[in-house]
Amino acid sequence: MKKALIIGGGISGLATAWLLNKQAGEAGIPLQLTLLEQEKQPGGKIKSVKEQGYLCEWGPNGFLDSKPQTLELCKALGISEQLHRSNDNARKRFIFSDGELHRLPENGISFLKSRLLSWPGKIRLVGEPFAAGHPGDDETLAAFGRRRLGDEAMRKLIAPMASGIFAGDPETMSLVSCFPRIAELERDYGGLFRAMFALAKKKKQERKEGKISSSAAGPGGTLTSFKQGIQFLTDNLALQLGERVKTGVSAVSIRGNRGKWEVKTSDGSLFEADLVISASPAFAAAPMIETADSEIADLLRQIPYSTLSVICCGYQLAGLGHPLDGFGFLVPKEEGRTVLGTLWDSSMFEQRSPEGTALLRSMAGGACRPELIKLSDDELLKRVCEDLKVSMGITKSPDFVQIIRHQQAIPQYISGHSKRLAAIEQRLSEKKGIFLTGNAFKGVGLNDCVAASMATAQKAVDYLG
Ligand SMILES: Cc1cc2nc3c(=O)[nH]c(=O)nc-3n(C[C@H](O)[C@H](O)[C@H](O)COP(=O)(O)OP(=O)(O)OC[C@H]3O[C@@H](n4cnc5c(N)ncnc54)[C@H](O)[C@@H]3O)c2cc1C
Repeated sequence: MKKALIIGGGISGLATAWLLNKQAGEAGIPLQLTLLEQEKQPGGKIKSVKEQGYLCEWGPNGFLDSKPQTLELCKALGISEQLHRSNDNARKRFIFSDGELHRLPENGISFLKSRLLSWPGKIRLVGEPFAAGHPGDDETLAAFGRRRLGDEAMRKLIAPMASGIFAGDPETMSLVSCFPRIAELERDYGGLFRAMFALAKKKKQERKEGKISSSAAGPGGTLTSFKQGIQFLTDNLALQLGERVKTGVSAVSIRGNRGKWEVKTSDGSLFEADLVISASPAFAAAPMIETADSEIADLLRQIPYSTLSVICCGYQLAGLGHPLDGFGFLVPKEEGRTVLGTLWDSSMFEQRSPEGTALLRSMAGGACRPELIKLSDDELLKRVCEDLKVSMGITKSPDFVQIIRHQQAIPQYISGHSKRLAAIEQRLSEKKGIFLTGNAFKGVGLNDCVAASMATAQKAVDYLG
């Protein structure tokens, strides 16, 4: 009987454990698997809390169905039937700039009509095919944006996108690590417009040949969750893993002992395992792995995390003064507002708030404004209400409020990230039987986490076999 220990019960740890257990069974490998989660409830950043009829997502509110991984996992778990897709409202996205909300242009005509960018900004953006080539270093997102699309598009389009996904600072984020697909498109097609035209042509051809349906979702995909909230996914993983999941216990240290790994836990136990997978955040994995390899621990400590506060506000729809017909809006840093963006959760998904009400979820802080995490609830709420007034014209106070603070919310892939990953992988190749997975390395979206879990589970089965 082989023994495997997984540390961390967020989506990454739970999916890795579930897939490893399944694949080991299919490969005929007898396996005793244990997952340790330090909190009382598994799920990590995923938490869907229903209070007074409002369904508040403390972390993610879904995943995009344009990538297959999470959908495949749901199918394997037998919960595909319960998937709940966002409605068409989710396609309308807005940017708050110069005192008003601007709909994000979806095509050439709406781009030309939009007042989000000035005419010089638009002209610079359409000059993208003539932009200077890649400088060859680990370019930051901001440098890439300025080089290809111009300064204004960088500030008003690229930077809000960076805060929407990573709560990050584009001046430090590595383009190739945060948005590898964009870096790849530039490399393969020589520019973003060229890539867009080539891919559209390819899609048209595939549609003609019947390889894809004409109603296939756009490149962004459709935001997908469950009626009960995204926690339904982690709850099901934990439920199916059953007693293998031990909550309220944290791993303290990992040490090699005669070809096996010994893991000390917070309750004083010692686990002996053939294989250990850490799916905990980098800052938590670092002290654990210190005894086994101090160099890996140092490299993990170099991955910073942004702070983030989530402010859920519930309102009566009557007299709100805004139609809420969309996904929500993002705010460029130069606007000097507290919120990074506000998602109109109850417009995208049904049953997120009681009949006749709306649920808005604002984010504040991030890598550019870490000090905001220290604001009192009253001050934070006051500032959010002010921002909602300026941007959406909401003058009344919310009837329902829930505030969540993430001190270490999202890992930041800053310049040098790919070099650090390569160094970690090099060191790990000498530590047979230790694996690292989770959102600290190759993507923070749920699809990325599940993709990493799939790859890790496969490597673990190969190792055990
Ligand atoms: C506010 C917010 C909104 C987001 N929105 C979206 C979205 O809409 N769509 C999307 O795709 N992604 C979104 N993300 C990103 C996504 O939610 C995360 O990247 C993902 O959930 C991380 O999963 P994980 O399992 O890798 O890490 P985590 O969820 O952080 O899980 C790590 C687990 O390890 C445990 N742990 C730590 N140390 C130990 C220890 N020593 N022993 C045992 N256990 C330990 C922790 O308690 C935790 O449960 C969002 C993130 C945040 C914070």
